[in-house]
Amino acid sequence: MPEILGENIDRLCTVEIRRRQGQRGFVSRLYAAAKARMGERSLTHTAAETLLNRTRGGSYVFITAGAGGPPELPKGEIDGMLGGAVLARALSFGLGAKPVLVAEQRYRDPFIAATQAAGLPVLDADLVENRRYGAILEPLPDEERDAREAVADLFRKYEPSAVIAVEKPAPNEKGVFHTMSGIADPGEISFAWLLVDEAKSRGIPSIGVGDGGNEIGMGLIKDTVREILQYGKKCQCPCQSGIASIVSTDVLVVANISNWGAYGIAASLACLHGDVNTLPSPSVLRLMFEDCARAGALDGSTSQQILADDGVPLETHEEVLSILRSIVAIGGISRPV
Ligand SMILES: [Zn+2]
Repeated sequence: MPEILGENIDRLCTVEIRRRQGQRGFVSRLYAAAKARMGERSLTHTAAETLLNRTRGGSYVFITAGAGGPPELPKGEIDGMLGGAVLARALSFGLGAKPVLVAEQRYRDPFIAATQAAGLPVLDADLVENRRYGAILEPLPDEERDAREAVADLFRKYEPSAVIAVEKPAPNEKGVFHTMSGIADPGEISFAWLLVDEAKSRGIPSIGVGDGGNEIGMGLIKDTVREILQYGKKCQCPCQSGIASIVSTDVLVVANISNWGAYGIAASLACLHGDVNTLPSPSVLRLMFEDCARAGALDGSTSQQILADDGVPLETHEEVLSILRSIVAIGGISRPV
């Protein structure tokens, strides 16, 4: 796959649509920092290549997603879960891998709904082991001690070939979880970072996808997060230590909206695999939005049960996916005319 394709996919996924806490222009700066850490290579291409190189047919890949909690987001927000579902589809349809969705109990229904709408049935582990396509959902406990035990069990059971975290909250240097507004939010507490820790100790590659500086993966560029984001260095909560995540991953994908980063990795996988239908169509994405929202996931910006992700309406996401498909189908895998 020519490097320029990955560059173009990155470019599309980092077009800044939102203004957050009055701030503009930070997505390109976070992206530049991440790219420097990746040896100036395309982020989505690097992530896809890592998955392709490390994932043998039939091997398990952990995908963790789900952010937010009660009272505003009792079953989480749309962002992260749709991206996780698109990656699960791409890994299964494209690489023959077996995705294991790892998420806290409150995200179970919307995460399964999104994945099944993407075309991938979520089934019991013994069924998935013996059939061509399918994903498994494994619960991630809310208490650290239980989560440690569960994570150790999951690695023993599945021996995954990679771990991917999409829009997954991560702690700052004092172990506090924040929203991007610099407020400590119990709804953001998650022990998904234990999956990355365990992967590192076993030499298994990890990929983080984020858009705000407080997610798993952003530890790779924490100095930049601290420097350029309003609450990067100093938050609004008593910890006073800023929102910057300290959890780094081997590959970091920065995007305007985390789901777009995941779509971008899936697009790069589709290029490498040579089949545009590794990516869902825009009409399938609409179905995913509808089913995920109906199952309780909300727009993270407004907390409304509407067809929007981070305040950006569904139509924009369909268009981004449509352009990604064109980059893959016309620029990527068709023969020159
Ligand atoms: Zn704080």
